[in-house]
Amino acid sequence: MQCRSCGTEIAGKAIVCYRCGASTTDPVRRPAPVRARRSPLLSLAAAALLVLLALYLGQASRTAADPGPLQLTAGVLAAAAVVLLVVRMVRRR
Ligand SMILES: [Zn+2]
Repeated sequence: MQCRSCGTEIAGKAIVCYRCGASTTDPVRRPAPVRARRSPLLSLAAAALLVLLALYLGQASRTAADPGPLQLTAGVLAAAAVVLLVVRMVRRR
């Protein structure tokens, strides 16, 4: 690799030229990390999906031979939906 400033042959891994001190790479300016803003609709959709799933499981548990696990799952899903909505409301402020 050749120094871009003085043309001296330098090691390929060199960050700066040993002769003139010129850097071999352009300064990398990293943009400030942009916080990935989650779409508010996304969590809302997820909560709606959980509620629907809970309703479905609740319905299915009526006809199931052993409704216990289904009802438990439905309850957990409904709780998760509530938590999701609460977290969403809290974060908005
Ligand atoms: Zn140089």
